[in-house]
Amino acid sequence: MPKEILIRNVYLADPDLPPQTRPRTTDILVRDGRIVAVEDGIQAPDAEVIEGDRAIAVAGMVDSHRHVWQTAIRGVAADWSLADYVREIRVGYATAYTPEHIYLANLAGALEALDTGVTALCDFSHLMNSPAHAEAAIQGLTDAGIRGVFCYGFYDVPARERAFASHDDRLRHAEEVAQSFRATAGPLLDFGVALTEFGLVGPEVTDRELDFARRHDALITLHVGTFGSPHGIADLDRRGRLGPDMLHVHANMCGDDELERLVASGGGLSITPETEMQMGMGWPVTNRLIEAGGLPSFGVDIASNIGGDMLTQMRLALQTARAIDNQKVLDQGIVPDRIGLTVRDALRFGTEGGARAMRMGGEIGTLRKGARADIALFATGGLNMMPMGDPVAMLLLESRPGDAVTVLVDGRVVKRDGRLVGVDLPGLREKLDRAFGEIADRVAESRDTAAGSSNAYARVVKRATGTD
Ligand SMILES: [Zn+2]
Repeated sequence: MPKEILIRNVYLADPDLPPQTRPRTTDILVRDGRIVAVEDGIQAPDAEVIEGDRAIAVAGMVDSHRHVWQTAIRGVAADWSLADYVREIRVGYATAYTPEHIYLANLAGALEALDTGVTALCDFSHLMNSPAHAEAAIQGLTDAGIRGVFCYGFYDVPARERAFASHDDRLRHAEEVAQSFRATAGPLLDFGVALTEFGLVGPEVTDRELDFARRHDALITLHVGTFGSPHGIADLDRRGRLGPDMLHVHANMCGDDELERLVASGGGLSITPETEMQMGMGWPVTNRLIEAGGLPSFGVDIASNIGGDMLTQMRLALQTARAIDNQKVLDQGIVPDRIGLTVRDALRFGTEGGARAMRMGGEIGTLRKGARADIALFATGGLNMMPMGDPVAMLLLESRPGDAVTVLVDGRVVKRDGRLVGVDLPGLREKLDRAFGEIADRVAESRDTAAGSSNAYARVVKRATGTD
């Protein structure tokens, strides 16, 4: 007997539908984890019924760039530049995590994503301090029940206890993780690779990481167009290493020609507007990527700085891109008559864009018939949602992340009536508070011994900021 779920009486926030000033509700039928019908008055007598109560249904949002491990150190990066971030986290906090800490961070970070209607993410996991850290990181995502790609990071964290003697050791361990991944990770996770930043290692090391990833047909994610590798896309292209299996991140310092090369290669780009604007990375490249013919996607980047919902990132990206476009007109001494980018564009980038960037296009990030049933329902009973206007406009610019009342991943209900299913929130809170304290204590101890100050990354920061 197929398992059916009938979601009744919901508005659709679908970027393919035209704006509706007097929206009507409809029904969605899910069978064995897929959307099989989106139409009015569906009859399915054996289905489990989710009463939508005029909620807005949207395809689960897709975060194409997040370092989920940083969920255990919330708030620390609130006033930091990127240089501060590298000095304090990549060379500092990262050295202090135990496997238990990364497990809790990944579990809580993925649950927070689900709680706000983000059903898939690309986890750039550059905290592989030991084999046990990798196992714990994967387990955290698996236990949360989120979809996504776990990207094994090769970055050599300057931890006090060194589990890997060399880069070759890391490659051997990554090989083991890749071989056993299907048996250990949940069915919703794929294996990927997060490259070491180019400023930290030579091209021969990058090539070894790329060769490893391509042997496993793994998604390759990488930071580009920021300090350390301002023109990483051009460098990769010159060496014939760009590919459709790459998910580039940031690219703020890349020229338009580099964005064109990225688009021509078939690779994706994750834009993380909030961290990019705070940390001195440059304007988000949303407009420039569209100009180059690309489809943007968005990421939260670091929970050590900001919340894990995607609505905020879509809003910031949209309004910043509009401001940049508008300023070009204002600079001519006239005021803009119209604005180009729409809420439908922003929603498409935060759903389909993320799915395509993670090589899951068509499967997720859409409410179309045949797609996997990753769906979020946003309640419309709050004052912020009355009266009900165009569902896409309402979702993008009026709703709050907490309005997500029901969330499905692959047809499984992970949040129902405003609560995550089977999650002991008070218990998790105790464990995370304790973990944060332990990490902070270990960081304070290692500060006294100046651990990490001779790390390659610390040297790159000094060069880039002119404090060498
Ligand atoms: Zn990042």
